[in-house]
Amino acid sequence: MQFCDLTRQYKTYKAEIDEAIQSVIDTSGFINGKEINLLENELAEYTGVAHAICCSSGTDALLLALMALDLQPGDEVICPAFSFFSSASMISLLKGKPVFVDVSPIDYNIDVAKIEEKISSKTKGIIAVSLFGQCADFDAINEIANTHGLWVVEDAAQSFGATYKGRKSCSLTRIAVTSFFPAKPLGCYGDGGAVFTSDENLAQKVKLLRSHGQVERYQHQLIGINGRMDTIQAAILRVKMKHFETELYTRQLAAGLYAKLLNGHVFLPEVRDYNTSTWAQYTIGLQNRNVVREELQKKGIPTSVHYPAPLPRQQAFSDLPSYDESFEVSELLSETVLSLPMHGLITKEEVEEVANAIISVTAEAQRREGRIEPQRRKE
Ligand SMILES: *Cc1c(COP(=O)(O)O)cnc(C)c1O
Repeated sequence: MQFCDLTRQYKTYKAEIDEAIQSVIDTSGFINGKEINLLENELAEYTGVAHAICCSSGTDALLLALMALDLQPGDEVICPAFSFFSSASMISLLKGKPVFVDVSPIDYNIDVAKIEEKISSKTKGIIAVSLFGQCADFDAINEIANTHGLWVVEDAAQSFGATYKGRKSCSLTRIAVTSFFPAKPLGCYGDGGAVFTSDENLAQKVKLLRSHGQVERYQHQLIGINGRMDTIQAAILRVKMKHFETELYTRQLAAGLYAKLLNGHVFLPEVRDYNTSTWAQYTIGLQNRNVVREELQKKGIPTSVHYPAPLPRQQAFSDLPSYDESFEVSELLSETVLSLPMHGLITKEEVEEVANAIISVTAEAQRREGRIEPQRRKE
């Protein structure tokens, strides 16, 4: 069994994908080929923003967004203590200062009630992550930001396709970013990402910054990066976009089945009633996570830990004052979370196999540790 079965996905769409790749090669449109523009229009329409701008990765999308927002050395940016590294590292790369806020134990997203106490005169914005495919509470976050004159970025690397109060992820803030890393809900065959905004000025600036700040060939208005998406990746993504809603539906069904089967055995992920999740990860909570993980591995069931440490504990952030601060929920999550196999073509039988293995492994582990007396079976 695969954690995220990209081979099955390729085999399912093989004819379409092969044709899409070949057409880019046939026309040598490797850089800025027509598929980039076509994909950008499709992404903008799907999310309901004025501009989607394809780029080289989710990390570069964050970098481009922060550069377009004119982040300066010393500027503070609020971000969650529990996420993937680049949600915070791009702030540091621009010599800004990540100011970490603990996350909610319900949805694992930034704890809105803890944001305001971290705002200082140097705070310029908030990066809120929509973790595991579920949007953070952006109405509340935008309201805090408006009160304090801050911008908000949605890191939607895991939530492209999710909805929040009926609106699409990537359209909920002034500027949003996503990733098309192969294992994300919508993934390409390498690195890729996109920036989303309905702000004309920001959109133009991101486009410039993506290509060396170049207004015309060899005329550079700004210091930018080489942050373009390869045309081949856009061509692949356009094929996968056609099947994306079906895959999201399969993920919903799988998540529903996991919840039904695992109810009462583990801590289940919770989705707020105003949200729909993309289930980028189906992440459960377990007290004896490491033991269970090893036993599942022996049964041929791959799992993953997102993430084994809160961001402020990373060595790369050890010079920040937050290194010694306590982030209770993030710490608890990093010790207990376990992500289960989940992808857009997972079968009912696979979900059942994983759930049954977890039920037997957790029961066995608890028996051994003597935490819970085993239930006597009715003979
Ligand atoms: C994957 C991910 C990123 C980075 O995307 P890349 O395309 O790998 O650079 C950023 N933030 C979050 C929350 C992610 O999950």
